[in-house]
Amino acid sequence: MHRRMTAPGALAAASLLLAIPASAASHAPGAPGIGDPYYPAYGNGGYDVSHYDLRLKYQPATDRLEGTATLLARTTQDLSRFNLDFLLDVSEVRVNGAAAKFRTSGEHELEITPRTPLDKGSAVTVVVRYSGVPSAKQAYGFTSWHRTPDGGVAANEPEAAWWWFPSNDHPLDKATYDVSVQVPDGTQAISNGTLQSTSSRLGWTRWNWRSNKPQATYLATLAVGRFDVTTGRTESGIPVVNAYSKDLGDNYGAARASVERTGEIADWLTGYFGPYPYNALGGYVPNTDTGYALETQTRPFYSPRQFANGTNTSVVVHELAHQWYGDSVSVAEWKDIWINEGFARYAQWLWSEHEGEGTAQEIADWVYASRPADDAFWAVQPGDPGPENQFHVAVYDRGALALQALRNEIGDEDFFAILKGWPQRYAHGNASVADFRQYAEEVSGKPLAALFDTWLYEPSKPGASAARDASIARTSKAPAQPKSWKKIAATNNVHEHGHGHGR
Ligand SMILES: [Zn+2]
Repeated sequence: MHRRMTAPGALAAASLLLAIPASAASHAPGAPGIGDPYYPAYGNGGYDVSHYDLRLKYQPATDRLEGTATLLARTTQDLSRFNLDFLLDVSEVRVNGAAAKFRTSGEHELEITPRTPLDKGSAVTVVVRYSGVPSAKQAYGFTSWHRTPDGGVAANEPEAAWWWFPSNDHPLDKATYDVSVQVPDGTQAISNGTLQSTSSRLGWTRWNWRSNKPQATYLATLAVGRFDVTTGRTESGIPVVNAYSKDLGDNYGAARASVERTGEIADWLTGYFGPYPYNALGGYVPNTDTGYALETQTRPFYSPRQFANGTNTSVVVHELAHQWYGDSVSVAEWKDIWINEGFARYAQWLWSEHEGEGTAQEIADWVYASRPADDAFWAVQPGDPGPENQFHVAVYDRGALALQALRNEIGDEDFFAILKGWPQRYAHGNASVADFRQYAEEVSGKPLAALFDTWLYEPSKPGASAARDASIARTSKAPAQPKSWKKIAATNNVHEHGHGHGR
């Protein structure tokens, strides 16, 4: 209930005026962060966004982006003001049609004070007009906007949105998207979901993309450049749109030979993870020198460097596995990163097995045996690695090793039932490592606390007896390096971002 509503009917008109100060006093500012312990300033409190409509114009020659973002949201508390996360220059903000006051604060906060305080549970439309040169903006000393010779790309984790649209930047607040981008004729604008239409006028082409399933902000992507765009369909009928920079040089063939297998690989993954969660699919390879790939929703981002040594279907498997593990079922807090990376890495192990290049068991044995106990690798706890180690290789390799240990403990039938059931249980939502353990215990009927502690939370190498219990590296014989290992290891630097957060 709301105080304003308590005015007796007969006196409503008169007392409403008097009631306003008391009512406004009950409205408080929304928190500048959503409450994530790793990244306290990320996301915001007090509202939930359901849809982003982004209408943009981008000039590659100058790296200038301008546009209007319309956010549909609902308040979750009485709000006197609220924040968005954003870095570009804002010229106007309207809340429910009325001009609102705004100012920037902190590293990436846009504070908005609506003319009238907002009551809890009300629908809110926020319009933000803005412009700027994304590559010129930094937060915490880094940028996630990758300038290319022919344009630019927004792709990073956990933060990518600040450089191109205002948002509630945390996976807990998912929304649907319409992204419409005007670029000079001859240039392409790539984003998530389905390409609805393109239209040309006066030397500019507008690209209209729609991502109509809940999508986390860091999984929204924009790439502008000179791309070859290919289209097709998976065997199950899902439309595929891929894009390759025309300027990939020697890497062009290998990139295309890998990413063109997207449909086939997604279909293969459905055998382990269940139905593909989205109605669009693809991948894109811009002309950038970043070292990582990213599971941007429905259409992963790949760096040309992943294809420098030839085709790399392993990285495609990794990013497509994330469509279930990471994109549809997202972390509740960033410390839950294992439920993304442990599983995407394990999918690469299953692919290795499929390709006859080493079984998951053989790779697990190799990981365990090839890392001595004093390797810093074992100090990282994949279940709670800390923000500085969120994308440490241990989250991936030790994370997948934990899954092999689980598989050996509960048997193939329950293990694969869990792999398939989990994306259904939390589809288009959020979940934690604790939720996964609970689910695995529920399906297997076994207590798993000790196993999870040993493989995900001990800051040291699990000893020989723990390994024996989990059927890891059982024989005294040193395991051979699996054939797929180098390819999988080449994917290791995939998420090791250079920007070194200090928070
Ligand atoms: Zn990953």
